[in-house]
Amino acid sequence: MAATDADRDTIRKAIDAADLNAVRMALYQNTGDPALAALPLAKDMSDEQRDTLRQQAVDWLLANASNARLPEPDDAELRRLLEMATGEQLGDLEFAARREQTAFKDYPFLVQWGGDRPDIPADFNAVIVGSGFSGVVMAVQCQLLGIPYTVIEKGDEPGGTWNINRYPDVRVDTISLTYELSFEKDWRWKEYFGRGEEVRTYINHVSRKFGVFANTRFNHALAKATFDEAKGKWLLDVDTPNGSERMETSVLITATGLFANPKIVDFPGRDDFGGEIVHPARWPADLSLEGKRVAVIGNGSTGIQMVGAIAEQAAHTSVFQRTPQWIAPRDKYGQPMEPEVHWLMDNFPGYWNWARYMAGAPLFDTHALVCNDPEWQAKGGKVNPVSDAMRGELAAYIERETGGDRSIIDRVLPDYAPMSRRPVVDNGWYRALTRDDCDLVTEPIERFSANGIVTGDGTEHPLDVVVTATGFEVVKYLWPAQFFGRSGVEVHDFWDSGDGPRAYIGAMVPDFPNMFMLYGPNSQPVSSGPAQSTWFTIWSAFIGRCLMRMLREQAATIEVTREAYDSYNKALDVESRNLVMMSKEGGIEKNYYVDNEHGRVLVNAPWYGPVFQNMFADPDWDALELRRESAPVG
Ligand code: NAP
Repeated sequence: MAATDADRDTIRKAIDAADLNAVRMALYQNTGDPALAALPLAKDMSDEQRDTLRQQAVDWLLANASNARLPEPDDAELRRLLEMATGEQLGDLEFAARREQTAFKDYPFLVQWGGDRPDIPADFNAVIVGSGFSGVVMAVQCQLLGIPYTVIEKGDEPGGTWNINRYPDVRVDTISLTYELSFEKDWRWKEYFGRGEEVRTYINHVSRKFGVFANTRFNHALAKATFDEAKGKWLLDVDTPNGSERMETSVLITATGLFANPKIVDFPGRDDFGGEIVHPARWPADLSLEGKRVAVIGNGSTGIQMVGAIAEQAAHTSVFQRTPQWIAPRDKYGQPMEPEVHWLMDNFPGYWNWARYMAGAPLFDTHALVCNDPEWQAKGGKVNPVSDAMRGELAAYIERETGGDRSIIDRVLPDYAPMSRRPVVDNGWYRALTRDDCDLVTEPIERFSANGIVTGDGTEHPLDVVVTATGFEVVKYLWPAQFFGRSGVEVHDFWDSGDGPRAYIGAMVPDFPNMFMLYGPNSQPVSSGPAQSTWFTIWSAFIGRCLMRMLREQAATIEVTREAYDSYNKALDVESRNLVMMSKEGGIEKNYYVDNEHGRVLVNAPWYGPVFQNMFADPDWDALELRRESAPVG
């Protein structure tokens, strides 16, 4: 189909706004023109090369624009294309990790039966707890395998964290093109970094489009799960609007996320405060900040994201910072996606795939940033060359954004290495601090008073509204529900008897057969590789593989062996030791990634991304025990 609906000017505008590396790759895939293969990356092209490429793309699109989708090239060709796209040689592990990132398939990463689909017993089913991103992906995975499932969701719509977080200017801080799901390719983001409302709408759309919504019971909260040894099933006590309900399931999958439970800090005098106290995850729909004196406590990703918008509305804004953060800008943050770029995605076969691939590719190169380099440190470096360089760039960014104001810079410059905490994206935070009607408060909070907050220096800051952006109860995994495993031990008691929550590859705990966690302990990759939503797909596919194995082998249960759990965690502790976040330079004890009580990494998987990914794509079956009949241990 030729491009009858777009003239040269429109196409030129689209190509000018496009990612030129993605344009080159899509054009090459469509034309096979060797001159395109010989071009360097866009950043290294001459002006003439750039202009010729753009012109060639416009001419080609005028004649050939179409809404066709390109088939996935064979392995050898795909590898050649991926290497051409970023100008890097890829090892086997790297190729395996990246190949589906281009999303040419209908359901990248997810698993499907080949010709060997066994009969699925009539009573085999799964219950998925949570209807956020990960729960919806898991449900689609079950659906692809023909496994009956029910999603139970404590809220009244899909969306998870995007459902509960409705504070001013909430939005994604990874580019939407990579944050969207690789199997739902038809979404046209309004902005490069989609707003919370749009992400919520997107998850709702995916849930409905793939039939998950119809299998979801909203306003259903899991209270207790008990493994019934005799039946080989999980018995669930679920709180519903009509009281407690009993459900039974062969497989229990928790998809309750990291950020389900707000951390409510019990500040002294909190109850004395005469104004309103709000946690961002409980933002009242009718809250007006117009003309009010507002405080924001906390400068994690949440606090940072909202201050610019709050300062626009409030009469006065006070930002209470306990620990400075490294805060980085993002290209195109806050910018609308041009309609011409949407046109390109619809009419330039392969462009969507390569734009997505190129947007995510830098994330595959971040592992060096999070590891110590002892040789570099012996020569006087702080962490490693890339980390130290990033530190310099971010410090220069602070200078620029604050207009060189030392009274701000000296208080916001962190004394630890970047990437030791979750990276925070700037949304006009530094600029807001330079406003006359905005104060940065770094004196510790002593107590709340009737009129405001009193800090350690005795100053009372008069306030009408206090926003406590103090984060979430991240490491209370699975809380507040209770889970009783094969031998009757509750999972939190099991964890408390050791050194806190642990899991095998973030997903399984011994003695808890047929139970899987999405985003369990130590599952957040320390250096990302794929975007987070893709990890949900990778983890769901692992669970899919386990269920396929069970069904093929007519097993009643699958569980991780105690030996595999112990040796995995031992290796994880060793690997974690080299992380910047665990070192003094990384600011250990200043971090939700690191659990101070146990002195260890509790949220992150320390592995190089492709190594971690491979643990799910190619499971170590020796670590997992399948039993024909569920029977007592011993
Ligand atoms: P957070 O990163 O845990 O930050 C909590 C903030 O509250 C920190 O500044 C912390 O200070 C401060 N705080 C906690 N207790 C305090 C106390 N007793 N007194 C004073 N200050 C206190 O939480 P978050 O900002 O809600 O972010 C959580 C996660 O949500 C992020 O890491 C990210 O993964 C996700 N998120 C994502 C987006 C997105 O755009 N995609 C947006 C928001 C959040 P200290 O640093 O001193 O502990």
